[in-house]
Amino acid sequence: MAGNKTFTMIKPDAVSAGNTGAITKMIEEAGFRIVAIKKTQLSPEKAGEFYAVHKARPFYKDLCSYMSSGAIIPMILEKDNAVEDFRKLIGATDPTKAADGTIRKLFAKSIEANAIHGSDSDENAAIEGSFFFSNTERF
Ligand code: ATP
Ligand code: MG
Repeated sequence: MAGNKTFTMIKPDAVSAGNTGAITKMIEEAGFRIVAIKKTQLSPEKAGEFYAVHKARPFYKDLCSYMSSGAIIPMILEKDNAVEDFRKLIGATDPTKAADGTIRKLFAKSIEANAIHGSDSDENAAIEGSFFFSNTERF
């Protein structure tokens, strides 16, 4: 059965552009409940750990410096079918290919600076959530 939690972070381009409020509003209006939220900044090493699955990709080094270039807003979200529904809400990785009305279509600047992250499986949602948060059960 599909899980009811996912993990997201608003990326440095969207935070520095002042889009945190607009994006969070879209997330809540789409029926997601915010279980945990904070503002923080990744070191290049921590960004590298978070995106370790992409280590072999040509864009890995740039991705780590971009993801550590400014503040991010990580969140744990709750909704039925959370992972799949959230990936639909954010749209394709490349904003030029993202569907109208998606967060990336509205706010992403490029395929790298694409405004927001969304976990791609229930398993990764749990791993990524615990990368940033602990003791979130009672919320
Ligand atoms: P995310 O994991 O951030 O939700 P995604 O699952 O849509 O994004 P991935 O393939 O997991 O896409 O890539 C992780 C991130 O790496 C992308 O969101 C983007 O910031 C960056 N990225 C992916 N492909 C490229 C590329 N071709 N060039 C530059 N950056 C890229
Ligand atoms: Mg991904």
